[in-house]
Amino acid sequence: MRKVQRRRASGTQIKGSSSGPVSPKRIAELKKQMIEVGDYLAKRQYHAALAGNISARVSGDHLLCTRHGADIGLLRPDDIVLCDLGGHCLGEGILPTSEFSLHRAAYEERQDVAAVIHSHPPTALAFAAASVPLDALMLPEMLVLLGPVALVPYATPGTEDLADRLRLFLHAHDGFLLENHGALTVGKDLAQAALRMELLEHNARITLLVRQLGKPFVLKSEELESLMEIRRMMKQQGDI
Ligand SMILES: [Zn+2]
Repeated sequence: MRKVQRRRASGTQIKGSSSGPVSPKRIAELKKQMIEVGDYLAKRQYHAALAGNISARVSGDHLLCTRHGADIGLLRPDDIVLCDLGGHCLGEGILPTSEFSLHRAAYEERQDVAAVIHSHPPTALAFAAASVPLDALMLPEMLVLLGPVALVPYATPGTEDLADRLRLFLHAHDGFLLENHGALTVGKDLAQAALRMELLEHNARITLLVRQLGKPFVLKSEELESLMEIRRMMKQQGDI
């Protein structure tokens, strides 16, 4: 981790970063939201032990992310670190989450993304570990609010290889299963990314139940098309 410095008079800036200082007020607001989201996810048992990580874009190339080893369900402000997209973080010896490259990939590939959540919700993780895609096109509200979920092929967690595999799916999806690993969602803000994680896990639970009952009743192509049109319109209007 490279050296960083604080400039309190005009905001906070990471040494060597090309963009200007970041407002301390904005940082404080986002840290509060990240702590709330961590608690929200933990209460739904989407994390085990120290797994999972959260980030939020502060400005063009700055993000706040959970530090390496942080407990997502018990976050404190010190567990959230300011970094640039190069991975340089504020604070001597402070390391960002080991999954930083996943978060960076989302912000680099999608300018509309301002929040990323990586989590391990149990049913979604079971689908990921069984390498079974969540692709049954049967739940209208899920298709509109979350869209199709991508299944990203396995690569070692924490590697650029995994981030590169995620990049291939980022432009067409907002929710992802990481094979044998977990789930990831992106959003225009933390609330949307958290909502999408909840939808993704709900989708997995319902899909599992449907499979136990029999074959999913898949929607017809014209019905799917009209749902996708609704999704496009809602996205354009900023509703989802
Ligand atoms: Zn992970």
